[in-house]
Amino acid sequence: MIIDLRSDTVTKPTKAMLEAMMNAPLGDDVFGEDPTVIELEKKAAALFGKEAGLFCPSGTMTNQIAIKVHTQPGDEVLCDVNSHIYNYEGGGISFNSGVQAKLIQGDRGRITAQQIEQNINGDFDWLTRTTLVSLENTVNRAGGSYYTIDMIKPIQKLCADKKLNFHLDGARIFNALTETKENPKDVGSLFDSISICLSKGLGTPAGSVLIGTKEFIKKARRVRKVFGGGMRQAGILAAAGIYALDNNVTRLKEDHIRAKKIERILKSLPYITSILPVDSNIVIFDIDTKISGADFEKKLLENNIKIAAFGKQTIRFVTHMDFTDEMLEQTEKVLKSIQ
Ligand SMILES: *Cc1c(COP(=O)(O)O)cnc(C)c1O
Repeated sequence: MIIDLRSDTVTKPTKAMLEAMMNAPLGDDVFGEDPTVIELEKKAAALFGKEAGLFCPSGTMTNQIAIKVHTQPGDEVLCDVNSHIYNYEGGGISFNSGVQAKLIQGDRGRITAQQIEQNINGDFDWLTRTTLVSLENTVNRAGGSYYTIDMIKPIQKLCADKKLNFHLDGARIFNALTETKENPKDVGSLFDSISICLSKGLGTPAGSVLIGTKEFIKKARRVRKVFGGGMRQAGILAAAGIYALDNNVTRLKEDHIRAKKIERILKSLPYITSILPVDSNIVIFDIDTKISGADFEKKLLENNIKIAAFGKQTIRFVTHMDFTDEMLEQTEKVLKSIQ
């Protein structure tokens, strides 16, 4: 038994998901003729009360397209220091859009309207134009913390007042909604665009959907083509997405429960020095300096557990569909055996 806690992207499609993929009606999506892609885009948009959607190969692409459409070269995007768009998209903000980021130190990845307001540049020739605010929910690098609608509302109001575009990197938005129990439409109404990943907790092999107004998606569709993301019979992947939205959302709670159990186990171990509060399916913790992160990783691998050292002494575990209770028990045994 191999246990893989490196990411919630390591899941393999189930038989039922594969069947849905095999049976999907297909067409050429660059011509706008793939019925399954169209169905997924409509479904994702409707779920969040948005007008239109755009199916893309990855969450990096949906975020980068959104940044491109919302900005002009030389503009500035405001986001938290932990943001995926800044840290893990290969410098795409500058590479793809010629835009710079101003980083705000939030509370475990969550920034406030007040912080954003302090960082909006005035209208002077010598200052960078602030045109976009981007939030992430849940926040990956901050340990799966999440925003509630009450936290987002003042930011939305500020963006509307200051005429700033407002994007959500919702790679794990369903993990956030699992905890807040809020209506996706109420979240959707706050943002100009949302990027949703289907290949994280939802268990598809690939794919993300970008949603927004019809006008926004029309522009996004052109950028997708320029970025090389126009796929042909993409319905085979979109079918997995439709299946995932129908079947794999409510089960996310199980992942959160298992992550909480891991937190409890870690708290009992002498070599763990700190753990970020576990709010969803991500567990980030520090180990003492008697063992390096790399050696800890090696030790677990010898016991068939794959993990990712997230820093010198920092470790991240992510729970997902293919991480079972049996695996949790085995993980506990191995963690307790380490000195
Ligand atoms: C995984 C992830 C993405 C998208 O990553 P891809 O690997 O390109 O699909 C975007 N934002 C966050 C917060 C993520 O965790």
